[in-house]
Amino acid sequence: SANEMLLIFESNPVNEGLARVTAASFCTQLNPTLEEIADLKTAVSEAVTNCIIHGYEGRRGRIEMHLSYRERELYVDITDYGVGISDVEKAMEPMYTSKPDKDRSGMGFTFMEAFMDELSVESEPDKGTVVHMKK
Ligand code: ATP
Ligand code: MG
Repeated sequence: SANEMLLIFESNPVNEGLARVTAASFCTQLNPTLEEIADLKTAVSEAVTNCIIHGYEGRRGRIEMHLSYRERELYVDITDYGVGISDVEKAMEPMYTSKPDKDRSGMGFTFMEAFMDELSVESEPDKGTVVHMKK
């Protein structure tokens, strides 16, 4: 079986919870374990927080979360049209953060990688960023 959905929302911090519960709710169609749901929620939360804090740097912008599955494989794509990332490889290193002063630990991508089975990031400066995850 297969299914998909798209959630579009503003880069307002209150919508981080909306994205998290929407992803959890959609994935219940796959009869996940509680641990799998918790992992997905953590990964979505990290990705959406990055769009809000880094992508739009607190400004208003559009965030899209595309969720789909085919058989037992769940795909999550989270897109922003913000500042983008000039060096994706460096950004994905554990403990790398461009905002060390704002008590960021630089662990967002590391958590996404740990809690999901696959992670890839596409980004272009001044165009935005897409995070693809699979579980
Ligand atoms: P933490 O997630 O632990 O609070 P962090 O957000 O800095 O800290 P990561 O989530 O791993 O750490 O992201 C690493 C860096 O990648 C960020 O500091 C930022 O420079 C860049 N980055 C991540 N997501 C985006 C995005 N959507 N748009 C622009 N830059 C991003
Ligand atoms: Mg982060």
